Amino acid sequence: MSTKYVYFFGDGKGEGNGKMKELLGGKGANLAEMVNIGLPVPAGFTITTETCTHYYANNKQFPAELKAQVEEAIKKTEKAMGAELGSKTNPLLVSCRSGARESMPGMMDTVLNIGMNDDTVQALAKHSGNERFAWDSYRRFVQMYGDVVLDLKPRSKTERDPFEVALEHKKEKAGVTEDNQLSVAQLKELVEEFKALIKDRTGKAFPTDPMEQVWGAIGAVFGSWGNDRAVVYRRTYGIPHEWGTAANVQAMVFGNLGDDCATGVGLTRDCAIGTPGFCGDYLINAQGEDVVAGIRTPLRIEETLAKDMPSAHKQLDDIGIKLEKHFKEVQDIEFTIQRGKVWMLQTRNAKRTGFAAVRIAVDLLEEGLIDEKEMLAKRRIPADDLNQLLQPIFDPASKKVAEKEGRLLAKGINAGPGAASGKIVFFADDAEKMFEKDPKTDLILVRRETSPEDLRGMKAAKGILTAFGGASSHAALVSRQMGKACIVGCGALDINYEAGTITVGDKVLKSGDFLSMDGFTGEVFEGKVTTKPSEVIQVLITKTMKPEEAETFRRFDKLMKIADKHRKLRVRTNADLPNQAEEAIAFGAEGIGLCRTEHMFFDHLDEIREMIVADNLEHREKALAKLLPFQRKDFAGLFKAMDGKPVTIRLIDPPLHEFLSDAHLETDPKLADKLAKWSGKSVEEVKKRVEELHEFNPMLGHRGCRLGIVYPEITRMQARAIFEAAVEVQKAGVKVFPEVMVPLAGFAAEFKNQEKIIRETAEKVFAETGTKVEYMVGTMIEIPRAAVRADQIAENAEFFSFGTNDLTQTTLGMSRDDYGPFIGFYRENDIIGNDPFQQIDQDGVGELMKIGVERGRKTRNKLKIGICGEHGGDPSSVMFCHKIGLDYVSCSPFRVPIARLSAAQAAVEG
Ligand code: PEP
Ligand code: MG
Repeated sequence: MSTKYVYFFGDGKGEGNGKMKELLGGKGANLAEMVNIGLPVPAGFTITTETCTHYYANNKQFPAELKAQVEEAIKKTEKAMGAELGSKTNPLLVSCRSGARESMPGMMDTVLNIGMNDDTVQALAKHSGNERFAWDSYRRFVQMYGDVVLDLKPRSKTERDPFEVALEHKKEKAGVTEDNQLSVAQLKELVEEFKALIKDRTGKAFPTDPMEQVWGAIGAVFGSWGNDRAVVYRRTYGIPHEWGTAANVQAMVFGNLGDDCATGVGLTRDCAIGTPGFCGDYLINAQGEDVVAGIRTPLRIEETLAKDMPSAHKQLDDIGIKLEKHFKEVQDIEFTIQRGKVWMLQTRNAKRTGFAAVRIAVDLLEEGLIDEKEMLAKRRIPADDLNQLLQPIFDPASKKVAEKEGRLLAKGINAGPGAASGKIVFFADDAEKMFEKDPKTDLILVRRETSPEDLRGMKAAKGILTAFGGASSHAALVSRQMGKACIVGCGALDINYEAGTITVGDKVLKSGDFLSMDGFTGEVFEGKVTTKPSEVIQVLITKTMKPEEAETFRRFDKLMKIADKHRKLRVRTNADLPNQAEEAIAFGAEGIGLCRTEHMFFDHLDEIREMIVADNLEHREKALAKLLPFQRKDFAGLFKAMDGKPVTIRLIDPPLHEFLSDAHLETDPKLADKLAKWSGKSVEEVKKRVEELHEFNPMLGHRGCRLGIVYPEITRMQARAIFEAAVEVQKAGVKVFPEVMVPLAGFAAEFKNQEKIIRETAEKVFAETGTKVEYMVGTMIEIPRAAVRADQIAENAEFFSFGTNDLTQTTLGMSRDDYGPFIGFYRENDIIGNDPFQQIDQDGVGELMKIGVERGRKTRNKLKIGICGEHGGDPSSVMFCHKIGLDYVSCSPFRVPIARLSAAQAAVEG
């Protein structure tokens, strides 16, 4: 049997239906569906996406069966519409429009008014009783066909569209300003001029045979699947190139026949903030592309249509209600009003902001249109979009002004969502000082890159902007943890610390100048753009708003509670400080999945440096003893804040040179002397020790448990601080549950070594204090060997936590700090689909995780397993974690709601 390539719709019945999006594309499937539910849709047919894939696989040839199927469908369309293609008395005109499985708005081509020639134009004039309309349609057709099918485009970047130039000349000569002021005679001249232009520039005669025109348009629509815009769009939104588009050939209806006609695009509810009610744009006496092209300013449906065309408004309103009931989703529609009757040309699920997504989902639930599981659907509320409800936002009007004034400087990787405006500051300690002096100063810390030492400056800044680094660089992950706007890898910025300048093209900005950064989009602006805090933050964090006053919060909260009801994964947070933990709890965190203890050391650099330069155990222990009370206090703070929820504390992880290196000695000339005095060594000896610490590949160097194995006294001090704090807090009547975590273990022996020290220390503290606390000892799985030998490691480890930042860099052999320069190229050239430091590389790193889970649980079947790499807050990664059976994900506080929703989406969508 031959393949069916063409699906007819019309006369009250569609051969396809709304479920056939893969084959018919979104537009084709929904046109059929609308016909099937009795809505007024001009007849036509859809040529399948398979035809498009055949076309590309066969050197741009159509399948042999297509011709007969298209001809038959044209006949059916003619019959349904009571008009004939090419008829000299009652001609049918058709459109040919693209329509992929997922909408790619404006990326592909459309041809309208197909079927016009010198004969049909006369017939159309007579039949419609409107000669001007007929010639205007013909003029539009020649122009559009010339551009889209015959490829008459400007020859250079600077050349203007030749059709537009001809049109403008005509208007000038006629002494008019608007297209619709041209006379019939002038339109006739234009048609001839356009045809001559096409012949002259392309060497092709304009086709007069309507069927030839139809085939030309079908070829152009399929061809537009491969145009550059479409390719880039697919790459950006992860749409596979193999899908192909469908082509929809459909009878034309006319919005430009007179003042009882109109064309428009509408939404069944507002999609910026989600307010119910039909809304949108329309133009009286116009064709569809006029609305989109912005030649005339459209009118607002919700403001004036009821007055202008009451019957059409009522028809549209009823259609909107019927569509929402049927699709259970907000619809984005295209329509034409022809002599008072509404015709539907398209409907699709509307794209919306995060604000609108939440409001619409909750409203539809409350209106009884959908149930809880449907409400949680990923396509309804992409979990990442919740960010928009949490972060300060730029006042859209202010951003527009900045763009208009040419203040958009550059674009980097949008690593930490949010909007921030502030004064440029290049050094962390300057930021800190300025902040101390005036906590109201808004600062943007601009660095080539950041290091853990910049932490305090980062805390003081409103936003962090770096020229280098990727999405899991230090700057990015710390900013996200702090909930700050952050843009990294903004290579266009030439930062000169000495001169205190940023140069972008011919612009030079100085320290103290204002800069604004949109962490949602990665855009950096010169000067101020006004921001405001989100309502959700005002209720949960700053407590400057009461929940009952906050409508956005009410819906957000309802959504979160429903998500919690359905999810299986638990959600924890990565937090090092009590205030971060408190924020995370406000966002719904159920524990701490990662406390990076070294962040605490950066507040006590003197003591840790003293420990580093010491060359004997006794001296090292003396220095560590100074650190003990600080760590104990910090841990006690965390335990109190978490109030019985599990707290995973990871032992020291970074190489020691992050605390003391040549660079530190250089920037602080007194440091070497100070260290010499403390350690009883000469300055030379101190310098030598610092030199010894230098590593060529620090990420693969002396770090993680390797530190605690070589210097067991560090582990002993940290374990003591943890257990003493736990005992103290438990004694004060607060429940505690510490989980001590060993970093970077690859050999079971490494884990056992550290475990022994931890357990011995615990027993000692319990004996000394006469109090026991419940605790666990586990490990991170962050190098491939640990995943592969999870069976051996699980013999002793009571829990696993996948450190997917390190696991990604060690599995891919790709440094998380150095992948910035090539990752953009890789993505643009489809070498890899996603940034592996943002979304788990499921085929590679994910396989290792699966192995780790399987083998770990083979040894210990109830093994608790989580993830604490940055991926723990990424929706697709959270869904993957659900699939492979993890118990929890842990992410930065501000991503907790996103993880909660993603976990629920994983549970309801399986
Ligand atoms: C990890 O490697 O995923 C992790 C959480 O540890 P860090 O980012 O501190 O190396
Ligand atoms: Mg790590």
